[in-house]
Amino acid sequence: MSRFSSCILPPAMLGILGGGQLGAMFTVAAKTMGYQVTVLDPDPNAPAAQFADRHLCSAFDDADALQHMAKCAAVTTEFENVSADSMRWLAQYTVVSPSGDCVAIAQDRQQEKEWIDRAGLVTVPYAVISTESDIDDSLKKLLPGILKTATLGYDGKGQKTVDSIAELREAFTQLQHVRCVLEKKVDLRAEISVVVARLNNQYAVCFPPAENQHKNGILAYSLVPARLPQAILKQAENMAFKLAQAMNYQGVLAVEMFVVGNDMQLIVNEIAPRPHNSGHYTLDACISDQFQQQVRLMCGLPPAASDLLKPCCMANILGDVWPENGEPDWNAVLNHKTACLHLYGKKQVRPGRKMGHFTVLAENTDQAWQTARDLHLHLQNSAQNSCSTALDKSC
Ligand code: ADP
Ligand code: MG
Repeated sequence: MSRFSSCILPPAMLGILGGGQLGAMFTVAAKTMGYQVTVLDPDPNAPAAQFADRHLCSAFDDADALQHMAKCAAVTTEFENVSADSMRWLAQYTVVSPSGDCVAIAQDRQQEKEWIDRAGLVTVPYAVISTESDIDDSLKKLLPGILKTATLGYDGKGQKTVDSIAELREAFTQLQHVRCVLEKKVDLRAEISVVVARLNNQYAVCFPPAENQHKNGILAYSLVPARLPQAILKQAENMAFKLAQAMNYQGVLAVEMFVVGNDMQLIVNEIAPRPHNSGHYTLDACISDQFQQQVRLMCGLPPAASDLLKPCCMANILGDVWPENGEPDWNAVLNHKTACLHLYGKKQVRPGRKMGHFTVLAENTDQAWQTARDLHLHLQNSAQNSCSTALDKSC
């Protein structure tokens, strides 16, 4: 271990910017490993706050709160829209992982694509649209396309599908003329993601690629092992490593990819400078999980082994399955012997809001997926039934 003699050990105080579900799962991992945690999040009900030693309930750029964070032995983030400048400022006083520079790249689809290109990897054909005057007939080659705001989009938000130049103009206006990228809409054969845990050139691992199924632009299921040829999955892993290396990345990096056409070309869609929803399966199905890796890497420790122990399917639980009054019927999920339920303890329920997830372990991917869909359907039906019961009662 002498090579890691400068690493940060328990019970050091670790800091995290953001206290949502990713921050909560990070906090649990850090506490389990013996560290203390300070969470900075302006929401008094932030899910991570219930597990943290200290909750700084302030804005992310609050000077006093940042002073406190600077005293942590190391600081990380749970989301990319934190101020990269705050992270650069913190780096003067403490270890910051990933770096503010890496977070800045992931914040901006234009920069992200430039870095993907620089790493020798492929993006979808795209153009940057900064002002109305950038829109002309030369963009027809990108239609039908998807106009995406360059910054601040997530879960399909800040995106519009456009079929003509007229629709493109209208969509640009609807998106308030903020800088956008127009991407050609590609035929997706599959979507996968790779979560990399990288300390440096020598110490980097990745979790097995997840096959992701979306509904309404939001991740619904992650299936592992992905049902694609081994050679394609290996290539995806190598691409993710290559990108992390190009960025000189230290920490957990998620790389989303499209699998396109009969020859299964791999195209990098976007990156996240943190653990990713599609990596939640690692909590129950791998030797280590993506949050433990986040803790290890910010502490300068080498990543743990990332092997998959059992095929699995992770299913997101959105606010949609909550009945109007009360809780979903958790019976089926809890009674299933290889389904692991995770709820984030969010007080406010909204359709489309990520409230929790469950992971089903099985003998193979298809079985895990089938069971996950059955259990999810049960949650949906129970929400609908209790709505109709409520209606019946009101009659
Ligand atoms: P977000 O930040 O919301 O995750 P993404 O760029 O990943 O944004 O887009 C969300 C989903 O929309 C993707 O997972 C994919 O299903 C679909 N999508 C995005 N871009 C394209 C594209 N260029 N062609 C086809 N489908 C796309
Ligand atoms: Mg995405």
